[in-house]
Amino acid sequence: MVVKINKSVNDDLIKICEEGFPHEVCGVLIGNKKESNYFIQSSYICENLNKERASDRYELNPRDYIKAEDYAKSNNQAIIGIYHSHPNHPAIASETDKLYAWPDMIYLIYSIYDSKFKNLISWEINEKKDIFEEIKTSIYG
Ligand SMILES: [Zn+2]
Repeated sequence: MVVKINKSVNDDLIKICEEGFPHEVCGVLIGNKKESNYFIQSSYICENLNKERASDRYELNPRDYIKAEDYAKSNNQAIIGIYHSHPNHPAIASETDKLYAWPDMIYLIYSIYDSKFKNLISWEINEKKDIFEEIKTSIYG
């Protein structure tokens, strides 16, 4: 299982997450799942509805999620995952991240320290929802 992300999409996400600092930025990842690999071809930013704890929580605005879904369908793609930033925290999934994760989706976490991108880690939860595992990320294009 590997996450393959288009370079320009990844560059855009880094920029969005850096600009959103010190708040958590969130959105969806759009593309295809082929065999056991995820190909991320575009992304769609969603409003973070959690204003009170915007520095360490995120909650996607469902209105944006529906728009992203329509956009994905019109391009023969699907929502395959969610990205969010961790301002001044490592790209390690939190207990809250694990609690709200769904199997068959990938979760990309961008660690941003003082408005500068540090690293990216992709995560996936198993069917039983008890193991949230790091998966390999490769950048293409
Ligand atoms: Zn998180």
